[in-house]
Amino acid sequence: MSAFPHTFPLTRRGFFRAAGTAIVATVAPALTGCASQPGPRWRADPFALGVAAGEPTPDGFVLWTRLAPDPLSSDPDTPGGMPHRGTTGGDVAIDYEIATDPAMRAIVRSGHAIAEADYAHSVHLEVRGLEPGRRYWYRFRSGEADSDIGQAITAPAAGTPTDRLRFGFVSCANYEHGYFSAYRHLADESPDLVLFLGDYIYEFVEDRRPTVRKHSDGIEAKTLPLYRNRYAQYRTDPDLRRLHATAPCLMTWDDHEVQNDYADRWSQTFDDPTAFLRRRADAYRAFYEHMPVRPSRARPQGASMRVYERFAFGDLVSFAMLDGRQWRARESCYGAPDRGRAHLTVDATCPERLDATRSMLGDQQEAWLYDRLAKSTTRWNVLGQDVLMAEFRQRQKDDTFAFWSDDWNGYPAARERLLTHLHDSRVANPVVLGGDIHSFWANDLQLSIGARPVTIATEFVGTSVTSPGVPFDYFNDRIADNPHIRFFESRVRGYGSVDVARGRMTTKFRAISDVRDPNAGVTTLKTFVVEDGKPGVQVA
Ligand code: FE
Ligand code: CA
Repeated sequence: MSAFPHTFPLTRRGFFRAAGTAIVATVAPALTGCASQPGPRWRADPFALGVAAGEPTPDGFVLWTRLAPDPLSSDPDTPGGMPHRGTTGGDVAIDYEIATDPAMRAIVRSGHAIAEADYAHSVHLEVRGLEPGRRYWYRFRSGEADSDIGQAITAPAAGTPTDRLRFGFVSCANYEHGYFSAYRHLADESPDLVLFLGDYIYEFVEDRRPTVRKHSDGIEAKTLPLYRNRYAQYRTDPDLRRLHATAPCLMTWDDHEVQNDYADRWSQTFDDPTAFLRRRADAYRAFYEHMPVRPSRARPQGASMRVYERFAFGDLVSFAMLDGRQWRARESCYGAPDRGRAHLTVDATCPERLDATRSMLGDQQEAWLYDRLAKSTTRWNVLGQDVLMAEFRQRQKDDTFAFWSDDWNGYPAARERLLTHLHDSRVANPVVLGGDIHSFWANDLQLSIGARPVTIATEFVGTSVTSPGVPFDYFNDRIADNPHIRFFESRVRGYGSVDVARGRMTTKFRAISDVRDPNAGVTTLKTFVVEDGKPGVQVA
């Protein structure tokens, strides 16, 4: 993408100088009449965090940007270098344009969008009334500053015959552990859509392992200003910025957007739930402020935010994006005296794991999902969610089996309910995508029917963008105890690349050469197909 030369001198009128910084923000004093105001003048690029599009529907999408001329401002009163409300601050009206060509000549829509001071001057523009099933380009403008030109698509109308959709899925991008070459190579593929499956940021600061680069503030994010700056730092990464400009996205989160291995109001560090919910509210708000999610659905209410939603692309494929953190049951045997941390493997000494009332998604989201899946008429039904779903039995020294408590292995009754629903409702071609475990997996998701394992759905788990992989030997030694695990590899970083056609879905596991190399190359590690009407992994 272009570099941004816009650096404008301060001038007299309407300018605000943040104390102790060289930044400016300035704005039309009121939103009304802003069209007639001269635009703000900026001494630094207000669009340093780039642009993003998300949540394509048949008639539109959500467009995002955030004004941040000083992206990592350390003054909590001027997030991104922009003043809060008051005599000098407030909402800012900026211009946007949507075109049908990459040079932005054929403008089909233009107007004003509001950068809301209450949400760190982020813009969440819900665009409607566009044509279905086509590509658009967009940009924002403020004064003499132009944003990146981004690409978005509208979905084909419901039921429209649709031959193909190409998308990528990514997860676990710890800035400190490497460069975002996975994002760059995915952008180079020009996918129609990108699914972010969680751990988009990491809240903690690495203090046990060597790092490649640093979280700028050097402390764990626990408050709104710190979460904001974490997102801002990630968005200044050129590879991530370009990926967002290249394709619209669907978002969900995992734990590190708030805290490692949290579950609902239950903190890994056993914080008081009321205090933890305050932290969660700050974290969710910062997530909202930085993502192209639909404000009419996703704007947070205190510590609650609705991330889950379903998106359909003609008659071909739908994506149910799920929230596996906000409503999940407390991790089994949480706080047991022998446990220093919430997340551990649990075994037969923890019967709570098997409790039928435990839910990963929460009752409301589970009911919503089953209803949407039962009514779905698309040929492929993708579930985009955060963690490994397949059973993974971990043989212990005494030949008993233990299970990871933080993924679906900690919620086996919920997994069985979901797979039973997929089976009983004859949901067409269910494919589950996940992340979290920093390794590639290709799995047959099975139910025991009449004592016989029957494959109900197919699962692909993407490796991390940068985060260190789980120990290869430990996991690999246990694959033989789990014959439904068809492929496992934790020694590479990368992403998943999927080509959905009517008759088959092809999934490539793409591996980058070296996470420490900002110019890393990419290769295809493995290619799998799922045939229409035949659940389960096939090696291409
Ligand atoms: Fe992770
Ligand atoms: Ca995680």
